[in-house]
Amino acid sequence: SPVFTLVTLLGLATAAQERFSYDGYKVYSVTINSIQEAELLDVFSYDQRFDFWSKHRIVGKPIDVMISPSGQDEFESTLNYHNIKFEVMINNFEEKVQAQYNRLKSRARVDSGDVSFTEYMRHDEINAYLRRLEADYPNVVTTEVIGKSFEGRDRLIIKISSGGSDKPTIFADAGIHAREWIAPSTALYVINQLVEVPENSYLYENVDWVFIPVANPDGYEYTHDVERMWRKTRSTGTICFGADPNRNFGYHWGASGSSTWQCSDIYAGHRAFSEVETQALRDYLSAHSHHISLYVAIHSYGNWVLYPWSYADLLPDNADELQTVGMLYNDAVNEYNGNSYIVGNSAALLGTTAGCSDDYARGGLDIKLSYTLELPGGSTDGFDPPESDILWIVEEAWVGFKAWHGYVESSSANSSK
Ligand SMILES: [Zn+2]
Repeated sequence: SPVFTLVTLLGLATAAQERFSYDGYKVYSVTINSIQEAELLDVFSYDQRFDFWSKHRIVGKPIDVMISPSGQDEFESTLNYHNIKFEVMINNFEEKVQAQYNRLKSRARVDSGDVSFTEYMRHDEINAYLRRLEADYPNVVTTEVIGKSFEGRDRLIIKISSGGSDKPTIFADAGIHAREWIAPSTALYVINQLVEVPENSYLYENVDWVFIPVANPDGYEYTHDVERMWRKTRSTGTICFGADPNRNFGYHWGASGSSTWQCSDIYAGHRAFSEVETQALRDYLSAHSHHISLYVAIHSYGNWVLYPWSYADLLPDNADELQTVGMLYNDAVNEYNGNSYIVGNSAALLGTTAGCSDDYARGGLDIKLSYTLELPGGSTDGFDPPESDILWIVEEAWVGFKAWHGYVESSSANSSK
């Protein structure tokens, strides 16, 4: 029938969707000497040709920008005019993407229910792992589908607990930005260490852990199949797809540092919580926020531990505690392998970004400790580190998470005396 034919054709069109080419795209590394120079760069960030892989206000720390061929002359001449130093970090990004896709295509599937820290796992592999943990550790692990993504994928939350109710909880969202592949890997490693290493069971004696390892599965899968640097959800707009889910949360939504332009990478959505992905998180968190002690949004990249507010250059009333606890993460990692993180207020360090989950957790839900963690990036290899670097990064993060656990456990013990 004609209907069948149409459906078949649509199916073929989807299956054959061609991979987006980054041929001629360059990645620039810019070193700023003043906040004014950072603000000058900000102007470019509202133009789609300029994709800021990192963006901040720190003099001497590089800012990385991927630029399509049509924007490169304009960018270089503007920077030269203002005497701002830059270098080309990646000359043709397509070569990096092609190399990674070739590796992805040739890798074996992760055995169903297994986990890998030498590959970036696909969403179905990740869900199979979480469900296998629940089957194998029924007294410790529960999973829950908090809703479907826009394209109908199961969004799984995993809870690790020794039982009892309303224990202090560490909650982490990961992979809300599609292209930040190291974030789901990190959540999976912390889950793996907690559940599958018996010596670590003390870490969930008095504290519960809850993770949504792939908060934006449609985007995550799309970055694997089609467009490596996709960041947003995949909801249908009138002109462009998706909103930036980390500009879509309803606390001072749209105030600044987000865009009203659908095609922007930092499009805030047409209203707060316009995306089913943020709606379901809001509903889950609202129901459980009274016992969440620490919220962390896992992102990449740049080695930052950031705390609210993000929407404006202002500090919450417990900024001292946020700074102290943020430093625990840095200090633990630093002692472990010598790496360091910059800890501080998000708006002051990065510029304002309204509609983030960290602000919603702190302001909308009154979760006292709320962070955005920016993991290490891939440097000259591209946005994410190559698969061979996953393990050291997730091991490093595990050290930081254990430090946070120590604080949550001891502060809740003190407050219940
Ligand atoms: Zn991010």
